[in-house]
Amino acid sequence: MYFSKSFIPILKNNPTEAKIKSHQLMLRTGMIKQSSAGIYSWLPLGFKVMKKIEQIVREEQNKVGVQEILMPTIQSSDIWKESGRYDDYGEEMLRIKDRQNREMLYGPTNEELVTEIFRSSIKSYKSLPQLLYHIQWKFRDELRPRFGIMRCREFYMKDAYSFDISDDEALYSYNKFFLAYLNTFKRMDLSAIPMAADTGPIGGNLSHEFIILANTGESKIFTDKRIFNVDSSSTTIDQNSLLELRNNYEKFYAVTDEKFSKKEFEDNVNEENRLQTKGIEVGHIFYFGDKYSKSMNATVDYNGKKEFVKMGSYGIGVSRLVGAIIEAKYDDKKEIMKWPISVSPYDCCVLPIINKNDNSNLEKAVNIYNLLKKSGLDVLIDDTDENLSSKIKKFNLLGIPYQIIIGKNFNENKIEFKEIDREPIYISLEEIIKKIKDKKSN
Ligand code: ATP
Ligand code: MG
Repeated sequence: MYFSKSFIPILKNNPTEAKIKSHQLMLRTGMIKQSSAGIYSWLPLGFKVMKKIEQIVREEQNKVGVQEILMPTIQSSDIWKESGRYDDYGEEMLRIKDRQNREMLYGPTNEELVTEIFRSSIKSYKSLPQLLYHIQWKFRDELRPRFGIMRCREFYMKDAYSFDISDDEALYSYNKFFLAYLNTFKRMDLSAIPMAADTGPIGGNLSHEFIILANTGESKIFTDKRIFNVDSSSTTIDQNSLLELRNNYEKFYAVTDEKFSKKEFEDNVNEENRLQTKGIEVGHIFYFGDKYSKSMNATVDYNGKKEFVKMGSYGIGVSRLVGAIIEAKYDDKKEIMKWPISVSPYDCCVLPIINKNDNSNLEKAVNIYNLLKKSGLDVLIDDTDENLSSKIKKFNLLGIPYQIIIGKNFNENKIEFKEIDREPIYISLEEIIKKIKDKKSN
């Protein structure tokens, strides 16, 4: 992509309405544009990042055997009346009437709809477990939308649902998601900690929030620092291996404020290991047994008897993650954003120093750009005639992790190559391509 032809509407200054880094940066670099309170359009740069996050989420769901579906955004109120949540949900739910005067709503979540889909087709326990997910827009009329896409009204979520015959089987499903979540966030270079969470008014049995540390987060957390060293890399999807993983995490005290007890914290964690800080909730897994299957009569045949299925639900804030990654990766001191390569809007950028009346550097840069593209990389070239220091400033905000600078001492075998937050090195184009591809593939 040529910068001059791209739709990346960069602002000169930080917008004053934005209070936290991710919101400032996303507006400043033209990733999003607000269309009304808590509702945003996604412009090319932001959209590319979100789509990469979505794809990682998808691949990790598929890996543990969850099947993708797509449910609509608009739902009928009937199923919500069946579950009893139509009245309970309150003003966060956007209610709509169609031309026949039927009560519809814009889905804030999908337990009811997926239960309806399940019960109409699955009749025997032999078809269990069923693990289904979709990635779809949600609407919640939040009381105080804030921090840009971190707490907005329309947002993009992966939500999955599990259906099992027994508590034991359901816990196995739960643990598969537990592992899938750890792997998902790891691929985004985030360390997300599973924290025991309150099950709230739903009154379920088991719940974890996946939280990444950030001072601007809205969740208060209390944890044993040693939880950051738990390693999940050798865990397999085998039942025992998953149980062991859960145990390794649950050895350490880690809760959000709803579950916090000062006494428990102090009894369980030595002073030097206590950490009390803030974080961003990027995912939430939840086991609630037969809450919806009972109210919505979702049963399967089990040796001639009808049994209510045991269910769980599992969310990831796909759009929130775009902001969360910025909060985690933006370097305040250097004023540099660096996207993890797995979600970066471009793999690398080419920055020619362009002198007036002399196109030779631009020509060399275009040549390099074409070769990089040919090798399969996604590249942004800055063909504008801004000077190098303002280009560098601009690209420090855009956060593309690799830069190739074409200046007056250009030498084909020693091209200036820079990881955005490091000193430059001088290597050949082949070596540059290899470095970026190696990074992408691990
Ligand atoms: P929160 O406590 O932040 O309101 P929640 O418990 O209501 O979250 P869930 O219903 O579990 O959230 O939704 C799953 C995920 O969707 C959350 O972990 C979060 O990442 C994301 N999410 C929830 N509400 C919003 C919102 N208003 N804007 C953006 N993302 C959201
Ligand atoms: Mg909420």
